[in-house]
Amino acid sequence: MEKKPFITLEQAKDIIKDIPTPFHIYDEKGIRENARALNKAFSWNKGYKEYFAVKATPNPYLMKILQEEGCGMDCSSYTELELCEACGITGSDIMFSSNVTPVQDMKKAYELGANINLDDLTHVEFIKKVCGVPKTICCRYNPGGVFKLADSEEKVQVMDTPGDSKYGMSEEQMVEAFTELKKAGAEEFGIHAFLASNTVSNEYYPELAGILFNLAVRLHKKTGVHIKFINLSGGVGVDYKPEQPKNDIAIIGEGVRKKFEEILVPEGMGDVEIYTELGRYMLAPYGALVATAIHEKHIYKEYIGLDACAANLMRPAMYGSYHHITVLGKENEPCDHKYDVTGGLCENNDKFAIDRMLPKIDMGDIIYIHDAGAHGFSMGYNYNGKLRSAEVLLKEDGSHKLIRRAETPGDYFATFDFSDDFKLPKD
Ligand SMILES: *Cc1c(COP(=O)(O)O)cnc(C)c1O
Repeated sequence: MEKKPFITLEQAKDIIKDIPTPFHIYDEKGIRENARALNKAFSWNKGYKEYFAVKATPNPYLMKILQEEGCGMDCSSYTELELCEACGITGSDIMFSSNVTPVQDMKKAYELGANINLDDLTHVEFIKKVCGVPKTICCRYNPGGVFKLADSEEKVQVMDTPGDSKYGMSEEQMVEAFTELKKAGAEEFGIHAFLASNTVSNEYYPELAGILFNLAVRLHKKTGVHIKFINLSGGVGVDYKPEQPKNDIAIIGEGVRKKFEEILVPEGMGDVEIYTELGRYMLAPYGALVATAIHEKHIYKEYIGLDACAANLMRPAMYGSYHHITVLGKENEPCDHKYDVTGGLCENNDKFAIDRMLPKIDMGDIIYIHDAGAHGFSMGYNYNGKLRSAEVLLKEDGSHKLIRRAETPGDYFATFDFSDDFKLPKD
């Protein structure tokens, strides 16, 4: 499908008067509409709740918007837990899905009353020692092997390898963990699994649900525990490329409902609550990185250099990910120029696009990089002394608000020790 920016060149220019590029911008209207459609798709399930994966876009304003739409938060570190606490999100509105969990993180999750998701069998003893076993507890499952989804022509459409992933426990370990946790006082149990990432397929969640619902029935029979919830976790993806199909959340919700009716209801387990833990699906399309073309270079290839770099959006450099690019104001011009669009890091993988057909780019053009609303700003880093950019919210009424200022050199210097003979820069 054609990819359209959620701001026009005029809007961008207006914002740039207050906030210079580069910045990340988020679309409140899009975020709310999408969250509502998700909640509607799962409204057949009484206890349904989406726990937004905070790591995707940890910003209090965005978390508040999602909270207002009925979402909880999924955390995996001490500071993410503190961020939730600061937003007034506590108790069972938090899922804590960590791995290699430090003591202080586990204690904090327990103190906040979060739904704690144990990544490993050894964490049963660990949590007993650190803080005790809460009344509600969840364990993360890993079936091993290869996870495959085929489409109607039996072509493999989604493939991931749980057998190589560091997360979760085997079924035998789940049985042992539930048995031990029950002995230690746990009363309500959850099951969680994340088997494939960024899937563009309406089949992923229903397939995963089938696996987890059957597992829940077996675990209930073997251990006698009450399964309170099943967390389908993240992994519902977005169409980064214009030619990709879009996930249809209504079809996905209906697919999960069918499995629920088929597998859980006949076993008397129709009270199980369904949770999701989506990050990318909630935010990626409703955020963009806005940058300015500041240099051009003609050597063996044509290069356009931006004032943003991989420190603002790491996905292309890290995973070779495609992010669609629009030159604002040139939406209707022919894409008859082939460019590498780069940032200024001293790293040759600092390219937002390689051999991309775009309209002719002039210096000063505003470049809109799509689908940067999740795992974008949050993966930012300070390599080469580059500073993290600002975050801006485009509100429903069309006005904009700075929701995180850009870093300054002062922020960069704040953690050095200048107690000896060094001179701090003035800014
Ligand atoms: C990252 C993560 C998610 C969200 O993944 P998306 O691909 O953004 O949907 C959910 N749950 C856990 C435990 C995660 O680590």
